[in-house]
Amino acid sequence: MSTLSPSPAVIPLSRPAQRLRDSHGRAITDLRVSITDRCNYKCVYCRTGNEGAQYAELPIADYLRLIRIFVSLGIEKVRLTGGEPLLRKGLLEMVRELAKMRTSFAPDGSPLDSVHGQPLDIAVTTNGHLLADLAQPLKDAGLTRVTVSMDAVDPETFARITRVPNSFEQVLAGIRAARRVGLDPVKVNCVLLRGFNEEQIPGFARFAREEGVVVRFIEFMPLEEDRLWSPATVVPIHEVIDRLGQFRPVVPLSATHASETACRYTFDDGIGEIGIIAPVSQAFCGQCSRVRLTSDGKIRTCLFSQSDHDLHGIARRGATDADLADYIVSTIVKKEARHHIGEPGFLKPSRSMVHIGG
Ligand code: SAM
Repeated sequence: MSTLSPSPAVIPLSRPAQRLRDSHGRAITDLRVSITDRCNYKCVYCRTGNEGAQYAELPIADYLRLIRIFVSLGIEKVRLTGGEPLLRKGLLEMVRELAKMRTSFAPDGSPLDSVHGQPLDIAVTTNGHLLADLAQPLKDAGLTRVTVSMDAVDPETFARITRVPNSFEQVLAGIRAARRVGLDPVKVNCVLLRGFNEEQIPGFARFAREEGVVVRFIEFMPLEEDRLWSPATVVPIHEVIDRLGQFRPVVPLSATHASETACRYTFDDGIGEIGIIAPVSQAFCGQCSRVRLTSDGKIRTCLFSQSDHDLHGIARRGATDADLADYIVSTIVKKEARHHIGEPGFLKPSRSMVHIGG
């Protein structure tokens, strides 16, 4: 049961409607919401082998109220994540409600009424373990896109990384189900961790070509519960390109939009798409359009923030939608210019990835 009253369709603001923008001039259009910090995997680069500390989960209605206010301020894409979002009861109802929301601004920044707004782009990031059965219901509920995290293309390495036996086939079935129901293009994200899976790169190239998915390699960031990260654990973008090139000549593709985080490639025969996301060796903070809401309802302006902003806390104390909108606007202004990974004095963020929402 929600502790909060529902939002009206139109959020009354205490200032003229304006798109969220930070003090560095970046428009914030992409909201990532962690709807649980429970996870059924214990990936070696993310979790401790033990039960990590857990924060609270909010009622789905509370996430929806907060998201609706973000959307009134210019959010166009909502990505549900976690923890593992497919574990969350109420996920399908949540996607159904999100599918009713409409964007609030035209590309030129002028406000739109609810009739002229576009449907939101609604995505889920999942480990895929439960996806085979949920792909069709999610699509029917209005999900637009799915990204599946998968760090190996052979079952033994996969089990060693996730610390869950016999899940590989289920994830594969989930990816295929997502494609079959039309959640295209399915993206498959692989975090590369030196000594664990860099030898999987050619196998992933083959996988992208044979399965018709976009494989994206992601550099490992210092966001784990344990202290594993060092510069030496990162497999940098130039090494990934070299290894792909040994498999088959690679051809760069142009970016699809300005806030694209992946460098995109195909092969000399045009079959298969690979993206490389290099937040460490080629940071893209200047194009960041993201803000995050943690599973306990706190705003994080950057993955590497040293503190959170307790949006749900003030909602619980009786803030109106207009108060919450003001709080969001004033928080976004403070978004960090960039992260400082690998620089002297770098401080690990106040929460690890599983508790932020990837
Ligand atoms: N459970 C879901 C999943 O597996 O996709 C969603 C949450 S998970 C934290 C989101 C993504 O963050 C996954 O692709 C995971 O590989 C990635 N991730 C976790 N820790 C990371 C790290 N330290 N550096 C880079 N990516 C990381």
